[in-house]
Amino acid sequence: MGDCIFCKIANKDVSSKIIYEDDTILVFEDVNPQAPVHVLIIPKQHIPSLNDIDSDAAEIISHIFMKIPSLAEQLGVQDNGYRIVVNCGTDGGQSVGHLHYHLLGGRTLTWPPG
Ligand code: 5GP
Ligand code: ZN
Repeated sequence: MGDCIFCKIANKDVSSKIIYEDDTILVFEDVNPQAPVHVLIIPKQHIPSLNDIDSDAAEIISHIFMKIPSLAEQLGVQDNGYRIVVNCGTDGGQSVGHLHYHLLGGRTLTWPPG
């Protein structure tokens, strides 16, 4: 937790381009965007990965999903559509061990993923 980059971003020890913030979540631009719109939604609380979700996390997970439509509207992608991605573990391509939701949009996204 001490050396977690997303905890540092949540604590403002590391700067980021913040899109939205409230008491429990932070939304900021991905430093290496994969689409014209690419933001990361994180709980401020350190949860390592999707594998660590339990009933204690139900409220924050619900809050994140409930917030997505208004974030998509704010980012101008609500009408054309967007994608939410959670990478988990090595095969899932997770590179930061703090739960995060990618919100991607602004172009047609290919499927299936590589
Ligand atoms: P993952 O690969 O774990 O699903 O996604 C991690 C994401 O975090 C990557 O898209 C990467 O570009 C982004 N990222 C890593 N370090 C930083 C950082 O210090 N600041 C910001 N804004 N994004 C970061
Ligand atoms: Zn963390």
